[in-house]
Amino acid sequence: MAGQRENTKLLTDGELDQVQALLGLPPITRARAAQASASKPERRWQGTTDAVFRAQLVSGLTSKLAARLAKELPEVRYKAGLPTIELTILEAAGHEAKAAVTEVFAEWTAQAPLTPSALDRRRKHQFTASGPDPNILDVANPDHRKKGGFPVNGRDTAKHLVANDDACKQMMTQYSFDPYTGTDDEAICLSSEILDPFYAANKNDLDECDRLGYWMANPDLGVIFAPRYLSGWDPQNGYNVPAVWQRKAVAYQKLIHEYIHVLQHPLLPHATSPAGQDPPRGTNTIKEGVCEYLTTQVMTHLARKPVDELDAIAAKFEGSPPGSGRGAVLQASLQKYTPPSDYTDAVDKVRQAIAVLGSDNGLLAAFFQGHTEYIGRYYTGKWLNGVLESSPGGPRSMPFPETFQNLDTLAAATGRSAAKIRQDNPQLTPAPPFGGQQIHLPGFHGHLMIVDTSGDEEACETWAMISAQHDIPASRIQQLNGNPDDMPARAWILVPDS
Ligand SMILES: [Zn+2]
Repeated sequence: MAGQRENTKLLTDGELDQVQALLGLPPITRARAAQASASKPERRWQGTTDAVFRAQLVSGLTSKLAARLAKELPEVRYKAGLPTIELTILEAAGHEAKAAVTEVFAEWTAQAPLTPSALDRRRKHQFTASGPDPNILDVANPDHRKKGGFPVNGRDTAKHLVANDDACKQMMTQYSFDPYTGTDDEAICLSSEILDPFYAANKNDLDECDRLGYWMANPDLGVIFAPRYLSGWDPQNGYNVPAVWQRKAVAYQKLIHEYIHVLQHPLLPHATSPAGQDPPRGTNTIKEGVCEYLTTQVMTHLARKPVDELDAIAAKFEGSPPGSGRGAVLQASLQKYTPPSDYTDAVDKVRQAIAVLGSDNGLLAAFFQGHTEYIGRYYTGKWLNGVLESSPGGPRSMPFPETFQNLDTLAAATGRSAAKIRQDNPQLTPAPPFGGQQIHLPGFHGHLMIVDTSGDEEACETWAMISAQHDIPASRIQQLNGNPDDMPARAWILVPDS
């Protein structure tokens, strides 16, 4: 097995559970898992029955939240008074960001089954802050925020502060208060007894905190919100000054992350959303953790470029004069790039999941090509209705390739006898159909044919895509599977290891 499938594997039962937990995905339903959760004692929170305890938590947490907000306000007021740049000056950073991501991941995205309209959207994608349909929007402009699907909402800021402030977290631990994964009553307590009244009392300050926030993106609409305020800059000096170059350099790195969102395969959110999430977005670890992990790969790639090349890139998006040392500044910042603090936990989880997967190729296949079977999710009538299992402790197996009706045709194609296949697979039922069963075939591995029906049209993998993914000639894979007239959509087919 080589090329993009190098070191990929279908997960064993135990690996499957680890990966689901690390990526924040709902556990795969099994009889065994259902039993385990049935025997877990039901959670109770003291505040549900003890009114004094509850009132103490509510007033304590509210005052910690007020203290945190007071700490935020001086900076917010400072930002509100700063001069602002035009967002159009960040467009060139968007073009260069797209070029950088393309250099690293074009081979993956070229082998992704996409509907004509999805493909067209991608081809036309360009970061722009002007015209009728800009996708670089002003984070501080309430109209832009509404248009980009994230209206200014200080209540969300309060929710974010309480979840991330150390003193608030400490108090929640002290009261064994878990409004996030605990009981419904705890969630209600935070929402209607703490956040609602706090927002009502501090609406203006909280809205200002949110409005004068940081870089954000709405990947569903493909838009990015950028701050326009800039400190250390006098507008009278114009744009061709180091403070503005630096803002453009920050934009370049932010837009690399945002452009990777654009390349996410449309099937991924469907395969990785918790039940009932509408529209499907996937978990935070999938959506942001994987995207930011891929961002670090692009940064590593760029950091290795010679300084002259980075000088030329910086000149293109900053407008800084070549030879002004900006390439070296860019290189230094790329070399010390680490994920923003909001993403650190999610990226850590992704790295741990990759350790279980064996390499990041399976994750890249899931993200760019919709091959979510490598992270343990696939479509059989509905998402998640199947489990991939290999024989525990034994050789890895795969789902029986559905391009074969019986063991005789499989024997003929693989050059071994039906008796030998039987001997290697005592678990197979005595007679066909074998579809849905596991089989172990040394020298071969399985490929799940991807079909994207997430839009109005349908997109199916081609033999050329499968060939490129596995680095095996298309004619050989086609012939091995009996030269089917139609692409066997959503079926497992057989691919030689080399
Ligand atoms: Zn993101």
